[in-house]
Amino acid sequence: MSIRVHNFMGALGWQMQKHFPMLSSNLYLKLQFAARAKKQKAYIEFFEKSEETPHPLVVNLETINRCNGECAFCTANKYAEKRPYKRMEDDLFKSIIDQLADWGFKGHLTLYGNNEPWLDTRIVEMHKYCREKLPDSFIFMSTNGLLLTLDISTTTAKT
Ligand code: SF4
Repeated sequence: MSIRVHNFMGALGWQMQKHFPMLSSNLYLKLQFAARAKKQKAYIEFFEKSEETPHPLVVNLETINRCNGECAFCTANKYAEKRPYKRMEDDLFKSIIDQLADWGFKGHLTLYGNNEPWLDTRIVEMHKYCREKLPDSFIFMSTNGLLLTLDISTTTAKT
């Protein structure tokens, strides 16, 4: 696959990821923390000073903590994963969604985090539950696509 890079930092970043994945990920995270420290502090203060707990605009639920990907820079790749295997309990999942429904949640919701959502065999049913309970929320998914087939894609697109 050919890759086109449009600026110097993009080219540098891509070469760093290719040749020094761990180093570049660590540097990137440090840069992110440094660049966002001020905004994060302001946000924490806003949160602490609010009389009522502000509702989140974005909710990410990782229902299974595994990925079938092999991305070298990622600690969740199938060779580097160190966390004990865990699937979110059905009761906990429903409780979170029900509480969001009680709030009238209209924000963004994902049923993945740093994982591959299609490894969870309940993922379609879980999305259906979310849609039913949170009709005004924006629900979306990101996947590495390794488990997708034409059948799955067309069937789920209709639900
Ligand atoms: S597909 Fe995503 S979660 Fe999986 S190894 Fe790659 S970057 Fe990590």
